[in-house]
Amino acid sequence: LFEYAPAPESRSVVDIKPSYGLFVDGEFVDGTGESFATINPATEEHLAHVAEASEADVDRAVKAARRAYDKVWSKMSGRERAKYLFRIARIIQERAKEFAVLETLDNGKPIKETRDFDVPTVAAHFFYYAGWADKLAYAVPGNPAPKPLGVAAQVIPWNFPLMMLAWKVAPALAAGNTVVLKPAETTPLTALLFAEVCQEAGLPNGVVNIVTGAGATGAALVAHPDVNKVAFTGSTDVGRTIARQVAGTSKRLTLELGGKGANIVYEDAPMDEAVEGVVNGIFFNQGHVCCAGSRLLVQESIQDEFLERLQRRMETLRVGDPLDKNTDIGAINSAEQLARITELAQAGEDEGANRWSPSSCVLPEKGFFFAPTLFTDVSQTHRVAREEIFGPVLSVLSFRTPTEAVQKANNTPFGLSAGVWSEKGSRTLWTANQLRAGVVWANSFNKFDATSPFGGYKESGYGREGGRQGLEGYLK
Ligand code: NAD
Repeated sequence: LFEYAPAPESRSVVDIKPSYGLFVDGEFVDGTGESFATINPATEEHLAHVAEASEADVDRAVKAARRAYDKVWSKMSGRERAKYLFRIARIIQERAKEFAVLETLDNGKPIKETRDFDVPTVAAHFFYYAGWADKLAYAVPGNPAPKPLGVAAQVIPWNFPLMMLAWKVAPALAAGNTVVLKPAETTPLTALLFAEVCQEAGLPNGVVNIVTGAGATGAALVAHPDVNKVAFTGSTDVGRTIARQVAGTSKRLTLELGGKGANIVYEDAPMDEAVEGVVNGIFFNQGHVCCAGSRLLVQESIQDEFLERLQRRMETLRVGDPLDKNTDIGAINSAEQLARITELAQAGEDEGANRWSPSSCVLPEKGFFFAPTLFTDVSQTHRVAREEIFGPVLSVLSFRTPTEAVQKANNTPFGLSAGVWSEKGSRTLWTANQLRAGVVWANSFNKFDATSPFGGYKESGYGREGGRQGLEGYLK
């Protein structure tokens, strides 16, 4: 059980049912409300019907979570809880192929990312937090052990459906809370597959509950009076609404919101690595990444050379079928998101920035796709420099001095991520310390680890997920 060895040959057949219910109190049950369709954004084909949880369904799920908390989970030793978390991690490894394919079908992201990044990272989070569960009692020797909060309401977005689930569910359970999770409406399927994993692991009924639905379901969950903690990841607008809703209650709240990350490339940067890092920073997961490096800040002395190299590299990016192992950029998650990216890119042109996409890029005729796009001649006042596009669109700005780089990088209401590219350690450290961003990568970008806390400054939210700090959000 506690072995961290390679999983046995993973199960690979994805069995998508025509319709799904909600996962409440350890079983799949019909919702009392409507149902909605989830589609494959790469083909626009229908995948399944999913229940839209009503207020009554949400109430049933919260009650199940409360019962499980009072009667079972909060009474269990950390060591016992750890066993379930290890088992869940192990089953995710065993079912890795199934998860990877299903995530790619429902989300549109390339299979090489779900296979090599999303699913292994998810398993790693369950392993990591399993390790914490039996240590909490001794975390502060001589002091009383920290206690769980109770029932956690968790609302997550569509860009990393399974990973956002792991970031929230694993620490909550390790700390002794029970959860009701609402996945995003366009990507509910891997959360429902995760519910099967909970059954397979023998997790006590009601410890994890999954209610599918849109914003109204999320709002009903956040508003439920018997919820003790709200953990939200999503847009800054909805985050503000939730903060208002929670204000005046005794619920704890953590918010992981939007970003407009800067990737700062100094003239002494390792050039090849920096080009790769900038490409990864914005085109990974179609740019549907809260911490994407969506603004490139390049030192003026190397701007021309760097852009030439960057464009050459972008010519080699393969956009298309997410199930093809060679695909670099898959489908945009929804028609709505595609329209938003299209509108913002048009605004970039209208405001006078210079738009470029690789000539090699031919988009599939069906499905929601957007070519990797570069904007040069961008001013800080342009919408493409200020607003979160959440797509494969990079805005290029230049700077002369480190002070100017920092001023421009910080000139945003967001503060989630940044990257610094330089061979000079002292310059990197100086820059990192000036940046008002929760995560700063040095000569790398988009690196995630279960042991590292992640979270924002300013309008990117508050609270941290990952690491020991991730547990603290679920303890008192
Ligand atoms: P969104 O805010 O529209 O939706 C997020 C979730 O909230 C969905 O499940 C949605 O159904 C639900 N929701 C909508 N209205 C609600 C309400 N009034 N009450 C409760 N729940 C409600 O965001 P999105 O478009 O799904 O995701 C993209 C956003 O998420 C981007 O801004 C991105 O930066 C952010 N994000 C942040 C992080 C982070 O860790 N900081 C990670 C991933 C994504």
